[in-house]
Amino acid sequence: MSELNDLKKKLAMSSRMLFNAQLVDHSGHISARIPGSDHFFILPHPVSRATVAADDMVVADFDGKSVEGKYKAPSEVFMHARAYKARSDIESVAHLHNHMVATLSMVDKPFYPASSNPGAFFGPGPMPVYMDPALIHTIEQGDAVARTLGKGDAVMLRGHGSMVVGQTIEWVFAACVDLEEAAVRFYQASLLGPVRVYTDDETQRVMKGRRKDSVVQKIWDHNVAKTKLARLMEGI
Ligand SMILES: [Zn+2]
Repeated sequence: MSELNDLKKKLAMSSRMLFNAQLVDHSGHISARIPGSDHFFILPHPVSRATVAADDMVVADFDGKSVEGKYKAPSEVFMHARAYKARSDIESVAHLHNHMVATLSMVDKPFYPASSNPGAFFGPGPMPVYMDPALIHTIEQGDAVARTLGKGDAVMLRGHGSMVVGQTIEWVFAACVDLEEAAVRFYQASLLGPVRVYTDDETQRVMKGRRKDSVVQKIWDHNVAKTKLARLMEGI
C-alpha cells in the first residue's frame, strides 16, 4: 500500500536527518504509528541510523513485540510502544541521545525550553525529567516514561537523552531540532547569569508564531536539503 510505503520512506529520511543533525548516533530512533492500528513502524536494531532504508523498517506492537520485518526492533522499543498505548493523540515518537538535553538532565536545575524562541514548541514550564537512568527495556519502564511525559510533547531522560512525541513525523522531527537548539541556548545563557525565563504570556505569544505547520515544513525542507548535501539521502 503506497500510504504505508510513504510512511516508511519518511521514517528512513527522518532517521538520516536526525543523524545528520547529530541528534541520534549509533542509537536513538524515530517511529510512526500505522494509522488506525495498534502497531507502529520503527527502524531496526542493527541498521545504521545514517543509512537505514524504507524496506528495513520493522513492525512492533504496543507491548514492544516485533511482529514483522527481517530484523528485530531496537532494545528500547518499549519507550515507543507504551507512549502510543498511553497517548491515542500521537502518531510519531522519537527517542534521542541529544547531547545538550542529556547534559541539562544531569544537573539539579529545571530546564525551561520555552525561554528561547525555538523552545516555544514545548510550551511554558520546566521540562519533566524521568529520573531512572537505566535503559528502557521493559513494558513497566516504558509505562513509567509515558507517565512522566503526561500530556506533554517531550520528556528528558536523566543522563540519557529525551523522548519527543507529536502528530506527524515532520512535526516530531522539527520539535527534535528545536529542543536541542533551545537546550544549547539555555546552557549558554546559564553560564552568563540567571536565565530570563519567558512569562506565560510571552510564551503563548511566541508559541502562536512558532507552533505552525508552515514552520515545521520549513525546518523539514531545510534539513532534507542539508542531508542531501551531505550525500546521506541516497538509496532511501
Ligand atoms: Zn537510549
